[in-house]
Amino acid sequence: MNPDPSLACQLEFRPYHRPFRQPLQTAHGPWTVRQGILLRLRDGQGRVGWGEITPLPWFGSESLESALACCAERAVGQWPDLLDTIPDSHPACQFGFETAWNSLVHSGQARPAARLPQCALLPAGIAALSAWKSLWQTGAQTFKWKIGVAPMEQEQEIFGQLTRLLPAEALLRLDANGGLTPAATIAWLRVCDRTSQVEYLEQPLPPEQFILLMQLAQQFRTPLALDESVATLAQVQTCYQRGWRGVFVIKPAIAGFPSRLRQFCQQHRIDAVFSSVFETAIGRQAGLQLAAELGNGNRATGYGTGHWFAEADRLNSTDVEVLWHHLSTTCSDRLIIPG
Ligand code: MG
Repeated sequence: MNPDPSLACQLEFRPYHRPFRQPLQTAHGPWTVRQGILLRLRDGQGRVGWGEITPLPWFGSESLESALACCAERAVGQWPDLLDTIPDSHPACQFGFETAWNSLVHSGQARPAARLPQCALLPAGIAALSAWKSLWQTGAQTFKWKIGVAPMEQEQEIFGQLTRLLPAEALLRLDANGGLTPAATIAWLRVCDRTSQVEYLEQPLPPEQFILLMQLAQQFRTPLALDESVATLAQVQTCYQRGWRGVFVIKPAIAGFPSRLRQFCQQHRIDAVFSSVFETAIGRQAGLQLAAELGNGNRATGYGTGHWFAEADRLNSTDVEVLWHHLSTTCSDRLIIPG
């Protein structure tokens, strides 16, 4: 897979436990804590690389528990050969390990942080009506709002108020996380078509309803985006082959090896929006580099999620050494492994 010479490396990993400021409400249910794993890779010359594993099992990635097992089994090995041993069932590990390796190979070469316009995630429900303002003041012009959380009539009433409050140049992405019925999807598309502020409706129906999603994409002016349908690169490839030419929301941290994702995106000019799964600075920087390289430059990138964590959270640091040392003392002993 990789032309680099094989090296004996040591992998250290530290799990973390990071509560959201408030539970994130989606059609999948409430989410209260982001758990993940930071990786530090070292070779015999003292070079260091950083990676991060942020599983999202309800999107089809491995669980935290199996990611930890994957790390423990690979604490010592020959790199990059070891990358080939990570199965496709572990896409978050594939991302984290390859990110660590790339970081080690390029250690000492400062890469400028990608600065891209961000889409800011609003809270679900009525809280969105006040939350957008401070995000707008910090420069966000694109917002994401979760739907399919409360009854549709109630959400459409709030949506009407929100579109009247937002400045004319603001854009709104509605994300249903696959939680709508076909009838509700059509009702939402009719409402969206009456305003010019909706950039797209994201994953209104579950992935099994692909043919209906294809049909609806032709029938309404408001674009549709796939997210849950394209969680891994294999799924991106399948939807592309089946004819999807709408928006692809790609969460690189759970999409598998970045090198494979890059190869696909360079071959096929897809309309890609890269999006966060609530990483620390390590996973975020790796995702933003891919977004800058491969994403649709006319759309905001989906990494406007930092405000979902408390400001005093040490895991907000952009200094990888601070993140790493913080975990040695505080977080790993509070780890909760889902049963
Ligand atoms: Mg989504």
